[in-house]
Amino acid sequence: MAAARAYRVLLVEDSPADAELVSDLLEESREPALELTRVDRLAAALQALRQQAFDAVLLDLGLPDSQGLSTLRRFQEETGPVAVVVLTGQEDAELGTRAIQLGAQDFLPKADLTPGLIGRTVRYAIERQRSAAELRLMAAAFESGQAILITDVQGRIQRVNDAFTRITGYTEAEVVGQNPNILQSGEHDRAFYERLWGELRVHDHWEGEIWNQRKNGQIYPEWESITAVRNEWGQVEHYVAVFHDISRQKRLEAELEREASTDRLTGACNRLRFDTELEDALARFQRYGTETALVMFDMDHFKWFNDTRGHDAGDRVLREVTDRVAANIRETDTLARWGGEEFILILPETSAEGARDLAERLRRAVGDTPVADAGHVTISLGVTTMGAGDDADSLLKRLDNALYRAKERGRNTVCYLAAEGPLKHCAT
Ligand code: GH3
Ligand code: MG
Ligand code: MG
Repeated sequence: MAAARAYRVLLVEDSPADAELVSDLLEESREPALELTRVDRLAAALQALRQQAFDAVLLDLGLPDSQGLSTLRRFQEETGPVAVVVLTGQEDAELGTRAIQLGAQDFLPKADLTPGLIGRTVRYAIERQRSAAELRLMAAAFESGQAILITDVQGRIQRVNDAFTRITGYTEAEVVGQNPNILQSGEHDRAFYERLWGELRVHDHWEGEIWNQRKNGQIYPEWESITAVRNEWGQVEHYVAVFHDISRQKRLEAELEREASTDRLTGACNRLRFDTELEDALARFQRYGTETALVMFDMDHFKWFNDTRGHDAGDRVLREVTDRVAANIRETDTLARWGGEEFILILPETSAEGARDLAERLRRAVGDTPVADAGHVTISLGVTTMGAGDDADSLLKRLDNALYRAKERGRNTVCYLAAEGPLKHCAT
């Protein structure tokens, strides 16, 4: 219940005798302290309401500056929500009823006022006004954009809002009485739901990402929070789930992630992504002994190519070479642009021999066919495999070495350097 602060009541009454009477009766009623302000005209009442908040207004309808129900109307037009109790003379009993129809909380015939009646009437008018305002507020909050689903303690749906219908495709009539598991997508295992319920039981709250299914069968991600609502004896009476669709956000995240890890010109992985891929591959090699090979390649005489054909032709070549290489590797291989015209491939589950064969295929795929509207280019390739004791630095150094040897041997060449020992193999 609200703290016991005094109710502020504004009495609008032009007859001094009536005003005195009402004031005395209120005093006697001994309702939780009432703070009374008296005015005798509508204009003064409106002025007072603009200056201070009142909980209730006792309003005489016949005032020097306003008469009858229009007094009430003017009043409502110019003030915020306040509980109005209309004071009526004995000759106009019907007026009171009409005032209520117009939004007054109650009416009091001045002729038969008692302290008890007036005190109770004012208090109930204030409380009714407040709970009506609270209901309006709750109704607005209920429809404020997030989907809401309320169940009883057995998990039967009791209410849903418009946003729920918009997101799931189910109307309230279709889901009331049903279990929320009609929304389950099959994307989560039993353990997921057990964890969810476990947390709800212990903390009265669960929050997280969940994949659900719309009425049309579409599966979508949502961010959901479920809260247990307990009654005054501590028993759970309801569960309230609030959620919103996060598919758009997820798509954006995936897109951003892709952009952040991709080289703009060629579409190959960028160096940042390469670094994490290499770390992962090294970890798998160290842990499971997964045979892994690397190939580094570099355009031959590319500076000269740019100088004679133009930088745009050079860019086209870089894109075309990337495409040709990508067409020759597996889904699980990584192709990254390491520098300007240098690329590296990570080849999991690939032997030295397999890597040398691939490198040779790539050399021919690039060197055998000129690039349309650009010209003829070749690449040199260095190949190595992961060995015990390797880290990213030693691997890259060896790769660079192998590539250097290929350049030294006349370019358009593949050179292989084993994890240990000297140069094993070079082929043109
Ligand atoms: P080598 O056969 O020894 O590799 O000779 P090179 O001229 O290819 O090697 P170098 O490292 O001297 O030059 C690399 C050139 O690659 C420099 C630059 O003009 C070119 N290059 C680097 N990045 C890009 C790019 O994004 N677009 C274009 N068009 N050219 C690039
Ligand atoms: Mg080069
Ligand atoms: Mg280079």
